[in-house]
Amino acid sequence: MSQAEVLRMKPPLVPLATLIGRELRNEKVEKPFVKYGQAALAKKGEDYFLVKPDCQRIPGNPASSFSVFAIFDGHNGISAAIFAKENLLSNVLSAIPQGISRGEWLQALPRALVAGFVKTDIEFQQRGETSGTTVTFVVIDGWTVTVASVGDSRCILDTQGGIVSLLTVDHRLEENAEERERVTASGGEVGRLNVFGGNEVGPLRCWPGGLCLSRSIGDTDVGEFIVPIPHVKQVKLSNAGGRLIIASDGIWDALSSDMAAKSCRGLPADLGAKMVVKEALRSRGLKDDTTCLVVDIIPSDQPVLPSTPRKKQNMLSSILFRKKSLNFTNKTTNRLSAIGVVEELFEEGSAVLAERLGKDFPTNANSGIFRCAVCQVDQPPAEGLTLSSGPFFSHGSKRWEGPFLCTNCQKKKDAMEGKRPSRPAVVA
Ligand SMILES: [Zn+2]
Repeated sequence: MSQAEVLRMKPPLVPLATLIGRELRNEKVEKPFVKYGQAALAKKGEDYFLVKPDCQRIPGNPASSFSVFAIFDGHNGISAAIFAKENLLSNVLSAIPQGISRGEWLQALPRALVAGFVKTDIEFQQRGETSGTTVTFVVIDGWTVTVASVGDSRCILDTQGGIVSLLTVDHRLEENAEERERVTASGGEVGRLNVFGGNEVGPLRCWPGGLCLSRSIGDTDVGEFIVPIPHVKQVKLSNAGGRLIIASDGIWDALSSDMAAKSCRGLPADLGAKMVVKEALRSRGLKDDTTCLVVDIIPSDQPVLPSTPRKKQNMLSSILFRKKSLNFTNKTTNRLSAIGVVEELFEEGSAVLAERLGKDFPTNANSGIFRCAVCQVDQPPAEGLTLSSGPFFSHGSKRWEGPFLCTNCQKKKDAMEGKRPSRPAVVA
């Protein structure tokens, strides 16, 4: 490895005081407000959600704050949803190198999300429980929104310009041909449920297991080609802000993205979430757990917004805010282009771990101890999978090109790629 490569792999350590000073100077003024509301109706009681509005990249420094919102829609029980809710955030954060700048942190986040999802899945499966869960996990830092998801709980973005966009991908076998191909290539069978008389009913499912989803956390009893590797999308909002609607499929089976966005426009986040759930219920009835988080990312220099959220004021100011924004766009043409424009920073949905972890994952190569890029466990390189382990990697496939993986995570990687049968195949 060249000196330049080594330098690139080891981010320089910046003194904490410098970092804090930099944060205060650069970000305090511009940071938007984040306001949120949640509503839910339970049918099976398998939906869980996480709201963490006050995380800090640098502990003790409020200027380094970021927020996390997530929805976990469990199936075959609730334990995977609860486990993911309790462990995923810390698993993601532990995969981000320490002492890096905000920009570097945001750049490291997509890869850390992949590591955190896979680690959480491995840890849950080690418990020997059989439930599974979708995860839609949203990190908001300033104007930058990063969404990681497995399964079919969507996150949509409604910008001030009225443009609604989907920030997630549905990992449903019925609707995702690419995922059907991947599952089949990895040894799974995709088909519908056979009822008496040979009629096929319901959505496409994966066998063994009969799951309709192609990605999830948990699901120990289903083939390991049902992977926990998330689709990740990172966008930067314009300084007009925007609204996120994060919800389980109980909402999306009833409402399109546009319908959900329109049903709550002009309402503050807490009333908005209630309205989305009400609208879904009105259109389809309560057929499934239905959970909705509405998160507003609002410019902090909006004079009409109160600094402390109070319900009545919130409603009024939200209406004023919308009206004001519209007037603003009409009168100020030179800033019109900034309204509703969203900058796409990153998007990747591959289910191949090597493609998601990259080749330049920071590693402690000089000490002779390697840190696993997924679970962050230190291990001597001889026991794990490294760049130089190709010739010993006898699966008849191309050599591993990703960062160091410990023995355990290496096994998981092989299983996800169909190189290790996890369950006997079902004979039709
Ligand atoms: Zn590991």
